Amino acid sequence: MTRTVHGLSAPQLTIDGEGVGSVQRLAVVDPATAEPFVEVPAATPEQLDRAVAAARAAAPSWRETPLAQRRERVRAFAAVVRENVDELARLLTLEQGKPLSRARGEIGSGLAYVEAFARMELAPEVLKDDASEYIELQRVPLGVVAAITAWNYPQLLSLWKIGPALVAGNPVIVKPSPYTPVSTLRVGELAQEVLPRGVLQVLAGGDDLGRAVSIHSGIDKVSFTGSSRAGKAIMAAGADTMKRLTLELGGNDAGIVLPDADPGAIAADLYAGGMSNCGQVCAGLKRLYVPAGRAGEYADALAAVAAKVVVGNGFTDGVDMGPVQNAPQLQRVRGLLADALDRGGEVYFRGDAPDGPGYWHPVTLVRGVPDGVPLVDEEQFGPVLPLLTYDDVDDAVRRANASPYGLGASVWSADVDAATAVARRLEAGSVWVNQHPMLSPEAPFGGLKQSGIGVESSPLGLLAYTDISVLRVKR
Ligand code: NAD
Repeated sequence: MTRTVHGLSAPQLTIDGEGVGSVQRLAVVDPATAEPFVEVPAATPEQLDRAVAAARAAAPSWRETPLAQRRERVRAFAAVVRENVDELARLLTLEQGKPLSRARGEIGSGLAYVEAFARMELAPEVLKDDASEYIELQRVPLGVVAAITAWNYPQLLSLWKIGPALVAGNPVIVKPSPYTPVSTLRVGELAQEVLPRGVLQVLAGGDDLGRAVSIHSGIDKVSFTGSSRAGKAIMAAGADTMKRLTLELGGNDAGIVLPDADPGAIAADLYAGGMSNCGQVCAGLKRLYVPAGRAGEYADALAAVAAKVVVGNGFTDGVDMGPVQNAPQLQRVRGLLADALDRGGEVYFRGDAPDGPGYWHPVTLVRGVPDGVPLVDEEQFGPVLPLLTYDDVDDAVRRANASPYGLGASVWSADVDAATAVARRLEAGSVWVNQHPMLSPEAPFGGLKQSGIGVESSPLGLLAYTDISVLRVKR
């Protein structure tokens, strides 16, 4: 194990503008080899206290920095990340497993959001202005924000939170997943070139550090992306200090294909909807409902797409899909698949995956799995997609909605109006027609039901990092 990463120094924690080590260390595994490739410092509880104190010290002047200057600093932050995209993408591929081109794409996409937030306004709203009184609705920062992120999109998820938190006037402490802390730590280091000390800090650590964040009295908001299980724990833990919360949690997105759709025309998009990022997408297509009479056609069309997919090390040219990100997740996916096959499921396509070490799982397409089986009812978060059949659309809508989750959903048809009418009946924070998923900076993104609370992205995502304060001046 080395303390350098491909010839670069392993990144440190960033606390109060300085790179610091720790008495605790975290070994980070390359999922393509199942071997640790680097050790990074893991923050102690005392270091969390120091970071919170530094953030609180930085908060007043960051809050009082005029919005235009904060936005300018945030643009400078985006620029410094972009200048270092090659290094960051390599770190991301090493720690996460995704192909290098996708790693670059993830960072570029995250930066597009940061830059969009850096163009947004936070103007006060005048509610009354007459001879008797002036009333103004102000959007004030919350204080210190903690951003806790998952391992599937470490860069995108942290940039989604850093951008609006900073523009809105809050210092941020980022706690990436212990499986993928490396590229986020490096972003913390790079940010010190352009941001005042204490305004952006990054602390690596395990779930215990997340729990310490979620009860810390010096943290005003937790913006969390991860599992519904951890989201519930954070909500409970934050009650005592009345923390503001944004929770972006799990999903079990259904896609309903209407009878008129052409399998050959949509199979590639359906496949990508389910299998992008090795199936590890919160709003990925996780249950595909097709008309019973056409199941064979869909199975053939999806298998034809899947047959062209190359699974391998993300640094190898031409690879479309990397490994599952971590060992427990690989075990979970294997377990869900084995259970579904025991309960009547049938594999209609199984792709190739490298032998030997690494958390490899072949692309696996299954059918014949009844509702009520965990592969259908729970979030699989891996490269296994069940094909389900329905006899009438009302039944498909009912089954799609029969989930504690409500993150995304889609409807597919050559008749856009018919698909849109069905889409309006689906219970999800984002409902797509003839695509899945599709996110962009102008639209809010969040979950209904147990998929989360609040939204990210769009001006509403910026407001999530503010509170309302009403100013009333008697005349
Ligand atoms: P996870 O909940 O196990 O971990 C996410 C983060 O939370 C990590 O940094 C972890 O250390 C921390 N954490 C864990 N327990 C905690 C606790 N009790 N208190 C505070 N922090 C805690 O999730 P994961 O396995 O890393 O990620 C996969 C999950 O994330 C999936 O369910 C996926 O759907 C979800 N996800 C959701 C979105 C979204 O936008 N809705 C996006 C990506 C991933």
